[in-house]
Amino acid sequence: MGREEAYIVPLKDLEVGTHQYQYTLDDKFFEEVNGPLVQKGNIEANVTVQKSEHSFLLTFRLDGTVKVLCDRCLEEIDQPISCEECLTVKFGEDKSEEDDQLVVVSEEEGELDLSWYMYEFVALHIPIRHVHPDGECNEETARILREHLTVERNEAETEEEDGSAATNRGTDPRWDALKKLKDNN
Ligand SMILES: [Zn+2]
Repeated sequence: MGREEAYIVPLKDLEVGTHQYQYTLDDKFFEEVNGPLVQKGNIEANVTVQKSEHSFLLTFRLDGTVKVLCDRCLEEIDQPISCEECLTVKFGEDKSEEDDQLVVVSEEEGELDLSWYMYEFVALHIPIRHVHPDGECNEETARILREHLTVERNEAETEEEDGSAATNRGTDPRWDALKKLKDNN
């Protein structure tokens, strides 16, 4: 609990005007957010909250690196992140007004946890395909993975069909391939 509260902005208590917040999104942060794409990183987040009479404009400046797994060899790559994103927040009850840029917070609640938004902004800026520069992959793993991936994919699809894969959802089939290999050695 204690640590998560660190990313909560007490919107209701803020006075009209500009407020600055600084956060470090470290390994612990990514571990706790537990998003699918990033588990480690070191990002400096500068958040500006501009409060007006009826709404809040949040500007996120995010700079640093996160660790993602290479698509070819599954070893970690440092992915630089440098971006600026905005979010408008207003008080209300009608969540159906929400979209990518607008968040509705009930006035009773009066605060907003920024963790997931910051995670999403980071994840949004990771290229869909992320691989090591030429020659920097672990070629041994890359080769083995290529060979095993086809088999694993077929198995996964079969499991999906009979519904028994529910517990496996969320695990990367490539990891299973790698784990199997290591167990065999
Ligand atoms: Zn690689």
